[in-house]
Amino acid sequence: MDKRQQILSGKICPYCGKETELIDSAETYQGVSYGWMYICRPCDAYVGCYKGTKKALGRLANAELRKYKHEAHDVFDLIWKKHFMKRAQAYTWLSKQLGTERDYTHIGMFDVETCKKVIAVSTVYLSERGIYERSTKEI
Ligand SMILES: [Zn+2]
Repeated sequence: MDKRQQILSGKICPYCGKETELIDSAETYQGVSYGWMYICRPCDAYVGCYKGTKKALGRLANAELRKYKHEAHDVFDLIWKKHFMKRAQAYTWLSKQLGTERDYTHIGMFDVETCKKVIAVSTVYLSERGIYERSTKEI
């Protein structure tokens, strides 16, 4: 596994480059378990796993990146939720907009800069179609 894959599979922290810990989310969410998560305590970074698996949803995110990921999903998801494209088509469109490989076009894999681009291109797409989305608020 190369370094990019180790980061995207949650095995290595993208901030400090050290190995992450795999823990039950009950350790962080007030005792309620939502499954496994990879965590780097010194960096306050974490990522969840696909339900019932130890497969990470993407790279670890710190507080700043978690905000941008939410914002990117809020805007981008409208493209398929409002049925301008099917979900898979929307991701293909996004990969072309960003110049990222389709297999690596998942918001969970992106850094802050790429999330900002997702917000920008999605906002343009939606505003051209008359969908007024709150402009990229200060986050
Ligand atoms: Zn770290």
